[in-house]
Amino acid sequence: MNKILRVDMSNLSTSIEAVPPEWAGLGGRALTSTIVAKEVIPTCHALGANNKLVFAPGLLSGTTAANSGRFSAGAKSPLTGTIKESNAGGLAAQMFARLGIKALIIEGLPKGNNWHSLHVNKDGVSIGEETELIGKGNFAVVETLEKRLGKKTGVITIGPAGEMKMLAANISVKDSDSKLRSHGRGGLGAVMGSKRIKFISIDDSGAPGIKLANQEKFTAAARVFAKAILEHPGTGQGLPTFGTAEMVNIVNEAGGLPTRNFTYGRYEGNEKISGETLRETIIERGGKPKHGCQPGCIIQCSQVYNDKQGNYVTSGFEYETIETLGANAGLGDLDQIATADSIMDDIGVDSIETSIAFGVAMEQECSLSATVKGYSAS
Ligand code: SF4
Repeated sequence: MNKILRVDMSNLSTSIEAVPPEWAGLGGRALTSTIVAKEVIPTCHALGANNKLVFAPGLLSGTTAANSGRFSAGAKSPLTGTIKESNAGGLAAQMFARLGIKALIIEGLPKGNNWHSLHVNKDGVSIGEETELIGKGNFAVVETLEKRLGKKTGVITIGPAGEMKMLAANISVKDSDSKLRSHGRGGLGAVMGSKRIKFISIDDSGAPGIKLANQEKFTAAARVFAKAILEHPGTGQGLPTFGTAEMVNIVNEAGGLPTRNFTYGRYEGNEKISGETLRETIIERGGKPKHGCQPGCIIQCSQVYNDKQGNYVTSGFEYETIETLGANAGLGDLDQIATADSIMDDIGVDSIETSIAFGVAMEQECSLSATVKGYSAS
């Protein structure tokens, strides 16, 4: 990966830069955070002209190294005011790496109220104007772009939440099933929305690919790494069998499962939302109990969750979403949690932050109701 793509939205210009020597050994979160630390004024407004949104594939993305296709996004977070890094699966990291793109840096704010799109390919990056997809959910964006640009196009997009610059807005990345993987937490979708970019398309046709200095040594090291992953009980057995939801029963047993806005550490409905129940339900309905969120994943902690009729509902159904909406907001029903997860993916809000907010709101509502009825202890 030998180039940095830079987009300046203030004058709608783009450029290609060489990779500075000090960034050569960095990738993924190390690179996005280093660029944000170096180039973003710490006191700037996160949704203002001086914040920068940075995307970078991992250092080994585009190679045959196992699990090397995660994609990093970084900026000053509008939620925390600090450097935010968020990692997602999907196709983007491998496509960027094959195109030789070490990072994409987006800076400035455009004048006026028009919306834009970015198009990344072997020649660099270009800026387009977008009208059709404004206001549309993430699923519609992917479906429309596959018709407009071809089934193989890579997509990075924001939903209505990002357009509205909501602090829980995600950036979503298309995966190999044309579904979505999320850069969650910290409101990076709002930063993309502030720059008035609805989506970024990626076309990797004609990409040069990755050139290895020593193919033989690389393959040998990659084999050692893959073997270690597959032989570890967590990554070789637990995660591929139950997904991250395996943690529900473990954490519940330890008394640390956030329940009812974390006023309790054990949830009486834990079995209804456990990794074991999730697996049984998926198999019964013809879904996929193990599935990779990015090409080259050999752990496969993701899954495809169907409804009772066998129709697709959601994937990447993680412990944190199941726990925060299930135990913490008191919703002991996997079907309802899965439906909510899908809606949040489409709107483009973070399913953890949003579910935690539900828990807080429910407790406050209960306290308010009790006070109104005269039941308040105080
Ligand atoms: S499916 Fe799970 S293990 Fe595989 S890359 Fe995605 S998050 Fe990681």
